[in-house]
Amino acid sequence: MSDAKLFLLENAETLVTMNDQREVLKTGWVASRDGMIIAVGSGPAPDIIEDIPQEKFQKHDATGCVVLPGLINTHHHLYQTRTRAYGPVADSELFPWLKTLYPVWAQLTDDQFYQGALVGFKELMRSGCTCTTDHHYLFPQDASEQLIDITILAARDAGIRFHPTRGSMSRSVKDGGLPPDSVVQDEDTIMADCERVIAKFHDPEPGAMVRIALAPCSPFSVSPELMKSTSALARKHGIRMHTHLSETQDENTYCLNMYKQRPVDFLESVDWLGDDVWLAHGIWFDDAEVARLGKAGVGIAHCPTSNMRLGSGVCRVRDLQAAGSPVGLAVDGSASNDSSNMLAELRQTLLLHRVIHGAAAMSINEVLEMATLGGAGCLGREDVGSLVVGKACDLAVFDLESIGYDGAHDPVAALLLCHPEPAREVIIGGQVIAQEE
Ligand SMILES: [Zn+2]
Repeated sequence: MSDAKLFLLENAETLVTMNDQREVLKTGWVASRDGMIIAVGSGPAPDIIEDIPQEKFQKHDATGCVVLPGLINTHHHLYQTRTRAYGPVADSELFPWLKTLYPVWAQLTDDQFYQGALVGFKELMRSGCTCTTDHHYLFPQDASEQLIDITILAARDAGIRFHPTRGSMSRSVKDGGLPPDSVVQDEDTIMADCERVIAKFHDPEPGAMVRIALAPCSPFSVSPELMKSTSALARKHGIRMHTHLSETQDENTYCLNMYKQRPVDFLESVDWLGDDVWLAHGIWFDDAEVARLGKAGVGIAHCPTSNMRLGSGVCRVRDLQAAGSPVGLAVDGSASNDSSNMLAELRQTLLLHRVIHGAAAMSINEVLEMATLGGAGCLGREDVGSLVVGKACDLAVFDLESIGYDGAHDPVAALLLCHPEPAREVIIGGQVIAQEE
């Protein structure tokens, strides 16, 4: 006990717990031991917390702040921070956008992969994100084969909780796929590296800072055989699976032409229709597909900014949730957003669904729930997403005295209705991480 790391955040003007009762506490406090929450309350923090005198805790004052459970980003391509606002594709849709960028990405170096990840992490944390995934499917022939290791190193340097996916592309143009040869790998190499990174990095324990998932890129860049061998390996190790599906109508057409199947039939045919799977985008599903995905418990990473930027469409968030799918939010890669601002993504979600379905169609609390508990559901993590005893002490602290919130009445609504201001700091595993400009 004497070596335990004790942390106490206190005096939060508003503390959003996302607990079962969805309590929002005034003058809130959260205490943690070794990174996990041991008590949460409102009013002055007690002198003794779980038998430990208050003076033993490292204290952190949140006077004048709104504190949220750390936001969870469920889809990203961190390396794309090196190709933000790339002029030739500024006005392109997905397939031409990809075909132009693949050769550019093929030139990225190991150092650029590290820097790209670090920039993405810092930008995410600056916007209140404490846990992110990364769909890393790009392994250029001239770069290191150990790019997952490089992104994990950057995550450790940044201090963020990281859920990397070992992605893959194996079907190039010569096999009827979209990417060029320069960015695909053979399937034996891919599967061997999946085994390697699971053995080296995957931590199944509560509070894990690194947890691996496997993620073939998309129906137009891998073979059905690779999808099948991936699901077999993931289930052998009890880890999760992720891929892009039904992002655009072009992609659905590709599935029909190549596999003679709609996307969810394809998913089922390769043993991927399960509650250990979450999909990026999921826009063009028909009613029957929505019902099947929901029944199976397949999660969806909703990426509104990217979908708007590429003109891809609008995810049927409400229908998928009603059918039973967990839905989380995501910034997507920085060549189609072109930002890793998670709080801005919450605002985009709110506005997009209101413009389609009306102002009552999406509430502020629903968006916050997607960005916390919904994200945890997609990543299959029961140890993040709400401020309750036993979960990780991951917090996002927003200062209401920022100029963009000046004059705001409802402090929680302000975070989504006002223009996003940077978080004052994030706390990850009971560790305060100061923001960088
Ligand atoms: Zn993506």
